[in-house]
Amino acid sequence: MTITEAVAGIREKILQAALRSGRNPDDIRLMGVSKFHGISEIEEAWQGGIRLFGESRVQEAADKFAGFTAGHPGAELHLIGSLQRNKAKAAYTLFDYIQSVDREALITCLGDLTANQDRPLGILLEFHTGEETKTGFPDEDSLCRAVEQVLSYPGLALRGLMTMAPYTDDTRIIRASFRALSGARNRLEARFPDCDWSCLSMGMSSDFEIAIEEGSTIIRIGTALFGERRT
Ligand SMILES: *Cc1c(COP(=O)(O)O)cnc(C)c1O
Repeated sequence: MTITEAVAGIREKILQAALRSGRNPDDIRLMGVSKFHGISEIEEAWQGGIRLFGESRVQEAADKFAGFTAGHPGAELHLIGSLQRNKAKAAYTLFDYIQSVDREALITCLGDLTANQDRPLGILLEFHTGEETKTGFPDEDSLCRAVEQVLSYPGLALRGLMTMAPYTDDTRIIRASFRALSGARNRLEARFPDCDWSCLSMGMSSDFEIAIEEGSTIIRIGTALFGERRT
């Protein structure tokens, strides 16, 4: 299967999942997670209509995308892996959004870094909803404090929440994880109604249809799009 064929197959599943849950398929963005894949595969995904890309590591993303984005207007790049503060400056240069903002010290660092810049940095707060690696804010109280902190920095543009479901075959556990993120978003939206909560980033190759049924607006797809990663 080519990447172009994979894109078509995933788009069909997005459509069906959206119809099943009474949603508009246009409200769901398909991110190509290109970590461990090369520039020719990224180019092929672009030809297939992918405009949003996700990478887990700053250096790998810089090697591949520093030249790519200039020649591909409309391309958008998000960091989806954990960010160390010593890479924050490089990350701001490269990424439109950091989806994996998971602790207060990182918000301080990104807030200071972007304070006098023209281009705001898109921020999603990562919520820990059950995946084993334990990244993300642990509860809604800590998320709430993180929201207030992000809002205090003019260079940070809060856009929503992100999570990873646990790696399990048990769809009830996966669905509960996505429901926890939707619920958190709804409660934060009630508390901070002037914020933009439009990004609900959840769902990967194995669970994106459940994520769409639970309200996802960004699905992050690696394997189902590019094939197995060469690690
Ligand atoms: C690698 C990764 C993905 C994509 O995973 P697949 O199962 O290959 O689709 C999505 N989100 C994050 C945070 C990842 O690290």
